Amino acid sequence: MIKSILSGWKNYLAKSEVTEAVAKKRAALCAACPHAQQGKLLAFVKDTLKEVEGAYCNQCGCPLSAKVRSNDICPINKW
Ligand code: SF4
Repeated sequence: MIKSILSGWKNYLAKSEVTEAVAKKRAALCAACPHAQQGKLLAFVKDTLKEVEGAYCNQCGCPLSAKVRSNDICPINKW
């Protein structure tokens, strides 16, 4: 999982067009999910996907800005 999250951060920094399109759909699903929480330590992370800015998933603990851009999966199969 760490590898895919690191890949997500790399994708986040690179902002690939295709990955952003997929990430946007995932971010919308995360934004409507009760497991998306705002993280105090992520408050400094700015994101073009405002739906997940500063948020993490409380099911896996991953920062959502990176997770939605990684090859990881949603732990409850929403995407
Ligand atoms: S990754 Fe899945 S469980 Fe986590 S916040 Fe997004 S939709 Fe919810």
